[in-house]
Amino acid sequence: MSNEFYIQEQHRRVEKIYNKKKHSNFINKKGLADWYTTELRKNDCKCYYCETSIFDIIKLINLYKVKTRAVKGNGVRGPVLEIDKNDNIYSKETCVLACYYCNNDKSYTLDKEEYKQHFGENRKRFFDKLLQEVLQTKEDKN
Ligand SMILES: [Zn+2]
Repeated sequence: MSNEFYIQEQHRRVEKIYNKKKHSNFINKKGLADWYTTELRKNDCKCYYCETSIFDIIKLINLYKVKTRAVKGNGVRGPVLEIDKNDNIYSKETCVLACYYCNNDKSYTLDKEEYKQHFGENRKRFFDKLLQEVLQTKEDKN
């Protein structure tokens, strides 16, 4: 999947999750989706905290190296970068895109920069280890 195709797909998805009350600082659904895709482009589709690409995370999910979390309805958390609010407000200044694993772990309990510095790097190391195992398995098969 090309990055551009993915980004367009995410624009459509994020428009659908727009919530007037929650996301009012983004003006409207297009404002939220535009911000989201600008962030994706700026950060090369990586989590703000662990700097792991969402494409690598999707790969790990598809290979059952990490699990997703079922949510009410029929969705799951894991395969998309989530909008992490900070300072209890959704705005362009406070929000970052975070993988489910960082977002869920950080929750609203830790400071954005403190979390990135002390936990992001370790998660990245763990994801890299899993990705290495996947590569290793492929090499062993060849
Ligand atoms: Zn992350």
